[in-house]
Amino acid sequence: MVIDMAERYADVIIDISHEKVDRPFQYKIPEELSQAIFPGVRVHVPFGKGNTDRIGYVVDLSDCPDYPVEKLKTITAVDDKGMTVEGSQIQVAYWLKRQYGSTMFAALKTVLPAKQKLRQLERKKVVRCISPKMLEAVQQQCIKKRQVAKVRVIEALMEEEVLPYELLRQKLNVPSSTLQALEKQGCLRIETENLYRNPVKLTGQEEKRVRLSDAQRGIIDGVLRDYREGQNGTYLVHGVTGSGKTEVYLGIIEQMVGMGKQAIVLIPEIALTYQTLLRFYKRFGERVSVINSTLSKGEKYDQVRRAKNGEIDVIIGPRSALFTPFPNLGVIVVDEEHEGSYKSESMPKYHARETAIMIASMQHASVVLGSATPSVEAYYRARKGEYRLFEMAGRHGSSALPKVYTVDLREELKQGNRSVFSRKLRELMEQRLQAGEQIMLFLNRRGYAGFVSCRACGHVMKCPHCDVSLSEHRNGMLICHYCGYEERRPANCPECGSKYLMGFKAGTEQIETALHKEFPGVRVLRMDADTTGTKESYEKILSAFANEKADILVGTQMIVKGHDFPNVTLVGVLAADLSLNQNDYRAGERTFQLLTQAAGRAGRGDKPGEVVIQTYQPEHYSIVHAANQDYIGFYEEEIAYRDLMRYPPIEHMLAVLVISRVQEDGMALSGEMTNIVNRWRVNHADAGRKLQIIGPTEASVGRINDWYRHILYMKHEDYQALVAIKDELELYCKDKELKNQSVQYDFDPVHTY
Ligand code: ADP
Ligand code: ZN
Ligand code: ZN
Repeated sequence: MVIDMAERYADVIIDISHEKVDRPFQYKIPEELSQAIFPGVRVHVPFGKGNTDRIGYVVDLSDCPDYPVEKLKTITAVDDKGMTVEGSQIQVAYWLKRQYGSTMFAALKTVLPAKQKLRQLERKKVVRCISPKMLEAVQQQCIKKRQVAKVRVIEALMEEEVLPYELLRQKLNVPSSTLQALEKQGCLRIETENLYRNPVKLTGQEEKRVRLSDAQRGIIDGVLRDYREGQNGTYLVHGVTGSGKTEVYLGIIEQMVGMGKQAIVLIPEIALTYQTLLRFYKRFGERVSVINSTLSKGEKYDQVRRAKNGEIDVIIGPRSALFTPFPNLGVIVVDEEHEGSYKSESMPKYHARETAIMIASMQHASVVLGSATPSVEAYYRARKGEYRLFEMAGRHGSSALPKVYTVDLREELKQGNRSVFSRKLRELMEQRLQAGEQIMLFLNRRGYAGFVSCRACGHVMKCPHCDVSLSEHRNGMLICHYCGYEERRPANCPECGSKYLMGFKAGTEQIETALHKEFPGVRVLRMDADTTGTKESYEKILSAFANEKADILVGTQMIVKGHDFPNVTLVGVLAADLSLNQNDYRAGERTFQLLTQAAGRAGRGDKPGEVVIQTYQPEHYSIVHAANQDYIGFYEEEIAYRDLMRYPPIEHMLAVLVISRVQEDGMALSGEMTNIVNRWRVNHADAGRKLQIIGPTEASVGRINDWYRHILYMKHEDYQALVAIKDELELYCKDKELKNQSVQYDFDPVHTY
């Protein structure tokens, strides 16, 4: 860690519990200790009126005192016990603060767990009461009666005698009424135990070990050979869903655990399925712990405590699990590495992938990234040799990749079809409804920012200076959020003259209405932000669909992740363009990922699947390559575009978001900040020439909750140049003591503002 030697003052926290981290005390650093003091180090300081000797942690350094210097006391000595777990955590927090921009307090809050008392909790479990043979007989009855939820419970119970109640409810989407019914039938018993701590007790038979393929062996051996030779690399495993990546993670972790090391496994919560969890439990038993949003603060804190005490070897969880303080970390796995949820949306806006790599290098651990559709960043670094790339072949087992049809919506209109369903989609839907199979209809509307296109020719209103679509504002203006260009919205399409120039506004609700009209009697479930206010309602909808209470599930992107519905044999993407025309340089990447994932939802069972992608731009490379399930083809075109435009990962990008109560203040501050950046450019001739400034301009959502938003972008090939600029801007704002205004920094943003 590079520390500026000019820094003469240290912020010290005496009691490193969460409630106190916002109250550090500033001390002078004596000359002779200046080399030995950096964030994370334990120091002796005189404290309080009597100047009693206390031990504290250095959390921050600065070169100007916050109080009159003569009032500051001096650090006495550095504690000689070496780096502690808390010390490492403070180092991570300090890195987050520097690298992403935030206060030290916010960074510490991100890294350190909230200290919470744990209440004695009750945990329910489900215990099998009859023999597997008898259970099988019951299962046959249930299959006949099409009681799918019961069938799923029974299948799980045939494998495991005891199962956690919550796991069944949430991950298998089993309603509690189903469990009660089975209890009445005498198949199982619902028990309550006081010890919440072991979510799973596996009394069932041993895990069925698979014979690893040569490719899987090769990856596991490769990672571990490097590790034993002291090389802590980053590895990218590229393989479609079902290609055996999880089996690779299990293999690597098992060997790490064998060497007395621990593992952190990051999986986006929405993608963490029951089956996956169970595989980890079977392999590592009670030495596994899971963090998710249903845990209370006390439970979360307890997981952290257990990790620190060496009571567990493996932790599975979303982004925040990254900060689990293991004493001897061996590997961090980041599954579904491309997921947007790995980027924090509040300050510090860190990316879990980059942070994992930093934590791993601090602790001499390895990082294994996995994805079916790697982020352009990760694949680029792998191609450059910064990460080692492993390519996996197709799916394990029999289920083939689905057949994909791309439908040109312009053709549909020409043929007089004004329905939201193309003729091909309608034909396939009718077949499925006849056959009693299920359908998912997907509308990727997220981030929809009012792009305007022509329904007759597909022409999209774009900025003449940038490769982004213009956004329609309520006053009838079309505005570019990258350069500020604007024009009045024309009445007719400038390309073909038609009057069908309009913003695409169809939502899931309209689709549901259209379904009832065009397919009388069809049973529809809808899932979007409106219908899933709570986690419970989300699970409820999924559970109802899994239990075949509906023929069609309509939803936004939340329906395409993770969940397996074996009876779904048709997936329709209603308007692939919606995510394509966001004014965002990642729109193509996100569209490709979403379409590939959506396609992967069809035909997961024994029946083959089909996919219909409806679009106005069937020739767009994201759509063409998604339809062909061709990642490399997509990557080549995408990286060429990023290269041309100097977008990440070719260069780095810093977004500075100014949030203000008064609009004029926002314009003024973003203008002043631009001046500072320009001055920096002049003062750093060499690095300055390579800096590109875009804006400042109003953000695409210019006001949220009556707060005005202004945005300034910068691009530079050197990340640290952007950090240096951020540091100057932070200093400026600190001196200015902003009122009714705040500033946020976002490096390599995953969404533009
Ligand atoms: P991914 O994580 O890439 O989606 P998984 O590791 O979950 O893939 O594997 C998909 C399925 O294939 C799982 O049911 C897994 O048990 C099985 N599988 C994986 N590797 C093998 C193997 N070498 N032999 C047999 N089955 C395997
Ligand atoms: Zn037109
Ligand atoms: Zn523009």
